[in-house]
Amino acid sequence: MSKPSKLATKAVHAGLPKAKPGGPFMDGPTFASTFHLQGNIDSAEYQYARFGNPTWTALEEGIAELEGGETVIFPSGMAATAAIMSSLVKSGEKIVVPADGYYATRAYADTFLVPNGIVLELVPTNALLEYDYTDVRLVFVESPSNPLLDVVDISALAQKVHAKGGLLAIDNTTLTVLGQRPLSLGADISMSADTKALNGHSDVVFGHVSCLDAVLIERVRLWRKLAGNIPGPMETWLVHRGLATLDVRLERMTKNAMQVAQMLSAHRAVKMVRYPGLEDDPSHEIACKQMYNFGFIVSFDLGNETSAQLFLEHANLIFQATSFGGVHTMAERRARWGTDDVSPGLVRLSVGCEHIEDLLADIERALAEIL
Ligand SMILES: *Cc1c(COP(=O)(O)O)cnc(C)c1O
Repeated sequence: MSKPSKLATKAVHAGLPKAKPGGPFMDGPTFASTFHLQGNIDSAEYQYARFGNPTWTALEEGIAELEGGETVIFPSGMAATAAIMSSLVKSGEKIVVPADGYYATRAYADTFLVPNGIVLELVPTNALLEYDYTDVRLVFVESPSNPLLDVVDISALAQKVHAKGGLLAIDNTTLTVLGQRPLSLGADISMSADTKALNGHSDVVFGHVSCLDAVLIERVRLWRKLAGNIPGPMETWLVHRGLATLDVRLERMTKNAMQVAQMLSAHRAVKMVRYPGLEDDPSHEIACKQMYNFGFIVSFDLGNETSAQLFLEHANLIFQATSFGGVHTMAERRARWGTDDVSPGLVRLSVGCEHIEDLLADIERALAEIL
C-alpha cells in the first residue's frame, strides 16, 4: 500500500507553533508544575501539569494529524498499553492478547488484570482470524509481531471483532504511524512505544495512544490524569524533535533492511530469515496490502546459541542491545531473555541509518566467523 500523499511532509511540520513575527520557530519545553489560574477554574487552558502541558499538546496534535485520531501521550509504551487495558476493560470481560507478541504486554495483563477478574486469552498472531470473538471486549494485537514479524489482516480482524461488539487495538511499534495507520484500516485504537523508531535516537522512553472515538480516548486521558502516569516535558519535546525526521530515517532504514534481508536469505550460514519484504515470506502478501513499507527489523536464525553469539561478537557495526528502531543498527539473541518462545539461534536485527555497503560488509565478515 502506498503512503498517503502529504503524510511525510505532515510529519515534518506536525505540531509546530503558528508562525508569528518574532515568535520561536520551535517552542522549547514548558517546565511548570502549575499555571496561573485566577478565579474561575475554566479560565485557563492549563491548570496543573498532571492534567496538561503545552508541550504535550503540541506533540499530541502533531501525532493526531498523522494517526487520524485524537492522541494521548505516555511516559512509556507500557504506560500506553496499561492505560488502554486498565481504562477500557472491566471485571468479567475478556481480553485477547497475542501469544507471540511483546512479553510485557502479556505479563501486564496476566499480573494486574487476571487477578481482578478479567479473562485473558493468548492467541498466536497467525491464528487470530480463526478465533471466535464472542464476549471479547478488547483484542490487543501487534502487527507485525515482535520478534517473528507475523502479520494479521487488520481490516479483516476489525470486521470479525466488531461483529461481536468488541474493540480492536493495534500495537504499531514495529512500523510506526508512517509505516501503517491502524485507524484507517478499521482498528479502534492505535498505540505505539515511541521509545523505538518514532523517537529513534535511543535516548527517551515514551508512548502514545490514538483513537477515533471521543468517549474511549477521554477515558484513556482520564486514566493518565488520575493514575498520574504522565510524561515529562523534556522527553515530550525530544520525541517531537524526533518525529520531524521519522520519514527520512525510515526511508534509509527500510531500504537498508531489505538489502540486508536479501543478503541474509542467500547466505549459507543463515537457516531462516523473516522479513515481510521478502516475496516468499509468509507475511508478504498482507504486508503489501496494509503497510506502507516493510519495516526495519529483520529476524534470522543462525541455528544455535553459539553461532548467534559469535556473530554478534564479531559484528562491529551492530550494537548488542535490547530495543530497536534507533538510527544505530542493533541486535540481540532474543532467547537470552527466556520470555519469548523462539529458537536459541534467533537474532533480531534492527537495521539503522548506516551506509548500506558498510553494513553489508560488516555482516558478511561476522557471518564468515561462524562457518
Ligand atoms: C518496546 C515495546 C513496548 C513497550 O514499550 P516501552 O516504551 O519499553 O514501555 C510495547 N510493545 C512493543 C511491540 C515494543 O517493542
